Amino acid sequence: MNPCVFMDRDGVINVERGTYTWEVENFEIIPGVPESLRKLKKQGYLLIVVTNQAGVGRGLYTKSDMEECHRYLSDQTFDILDDIYYATSHPDHSNSLLRKPDSLMFEKAIARYRIDPGRSWMVGDTEGDLVPAKKLGIRTIYIGSMPDAGDDQLIAADLSQAAELIIKNQ
Ligand SMILES: [Mg+2]
Repeated sequence: MNPCVFMDRDGVINVERGTYTWEVENFEIIPGVPESLRKLKKQGYLLIVVTNQAGVGRGLYTKSDMEECHRYLSDQTFDILDDIYYATSHPDHSNSLLRKPDSLMFEKAIARYRIDPGRSWMVGDTEGDLVPAKKLGIRTIYIGSMPDAGDDQLIAADLSQAAELIIKNQ
């Protein structure tokens, strides 16, 4: 059974622009991300991105636009990511259990990669990223400031800080 660090994409890996990001020109990787991924990989973690990409379901951009961004991401991060799971449905058009806060993307990854939830982490910048992880017994780190966070919610400024917390608390 393997430990894994799950990560949201927009706002954790690349800059959250407040709108959909599907063009490589706008896919700005947050400073420190490649190095943090390398550090976590050295500790033996699988690295898996789980991202809602409802813009595909809404017809704003295509799956191949998204895949081009993901190829760029892999190029910029030493091909270190083990997988990227995405949910393309938009709730206005169709419901999917893949879409966070549902947990099917996590469950698929856990089965495929034989992941031990109890030794794994989810790093996200919205409450909806953390809900499915908590449900499955995966520890969570919130990126940003969460005024009403409970005392037991770990919070970090960015993925670099989150990686330090993970290494300290493993
Ligand atoms: Mg996000």
